[in-house]
Amino acid sequence: MSIENLVIIGSGPAGYTAGIYAARANLSPLCIEGYQSGGLLMLTSDVENFPGFPHGMMGPELMANFRKQAERFGTRFVSKNATRVDFSSFPLKVYIENEEVQTKSVIIATGASTKWLGLESESRLLGKGVSSCATCDGAFFKGAKLIIVGGGDSAMEEATFLTRFASQVTVVHRKDQLRASKIMQDRAFKNPKINFVWDSEVLEILGNDAVTGARVKNIKTGKTEEIPCEGFFVAIGHEPNTGFLKDQIDLDPKGYIVMPKRPTTLTSRPGVFAAGDVQDTIYRQAITAAASGCQAAIDVERYLETLH
Ligand code: NDP
Repeated sequence: MSIENLVIIGSGPAGYTAGIYAARANLSPLCIEGYQSGGLLMLTSDVENFPGFPHGMMGPELMANFRKQAERFGTRFVSKNATRVDFSSFPLKVYIENEEVQTKSVIIATGASTKWLGLESESRLLGKGVSSCATCDGAFFKGAKLIIVGGGDSAMEEATFLTRFASQVTVVHRKDQLRASKIMQDRAFKNPKINFVWDSEVLEILGNDAVTGARVKNIKTGKTEEIPCEGFFVAIGHEPNTGFLKDQIDLDPKGYIVMPKRPTTLTSRPGVFAAGDVQDTIYRQAITAAASGCQAAIDVERYLETLH
């Protein structure tokens, strides 16, 4: 079996950028991009803050361009998920279901996934009015009343986006102030279609075959109320996609990859590097993910030189 120079696990801005740099360095990387390639920007509409695109860019189009650029220089792609790894010996092993890939180095760029509230009614009504993706599902709710849960940038961005379609968007947040950046807050506060329900948690999403509302409890007063709505959006953050790495490299208590030698992208295991949201609890931007993908590819180049 031949041994790869570099396997990149995951796509998105970090994985694809690592592909561009590693391919241009003649490493002929293999990118296991997943069944759902492209990462979270595939679920985004306008990306306005990626430098170089003064008029913005659609997320999926931006990712398609990243991928094309990586492919142009010789990155090879497998559109499946990496299911397991074995980093206990050299060469490192990455499994795609039962297929074993041996490699001298790995860049993990598997990103993070949507967090859910964990209510029974949430999973039962998923796709029947419950959604985590305003961009994907907003257009289904023309003239409707909507609820969105969360107080971060995602919630504000999505609430604002949803007002393009909805008659009213109610933000339900568990605190009395938002975590979102000032500019996003101001945009939401100024929007006449957005109202806020503070200090409140959702007890249940109402409806049998379709969402009809939500039962919400004020955690300061203990009072509950039912808010009617036809769509219910969850925007409470993300969890790192590191389940397949358990016991192979060090993860922090939230599951993010521990990076012992910052500013390098080295993980706790020699030859294994990480980039993007899977190791970033602070910035989590497309541009920072892309930058760390570049760093990881350069770190890999230097690491491979040490093997000769
Ligand atoms: P955040 O982690 O920033 O915010 C999550 C929000 O959901 C918080 O308000 C949190 O409440 C709330 N929350 C978390 N868990 C629960 C729960 N179980 N029940 C109820 N509420 C909950 O995630 P985001 O996805 O908003 O943002 C992630 C990162 O991406 C940030 O760095 C953000 O700046 C960035 N981002 C940037 C954008 C842009 O610049 N265009 C757009 C979107 C995201 P609490 O505040 O109480 O912790």
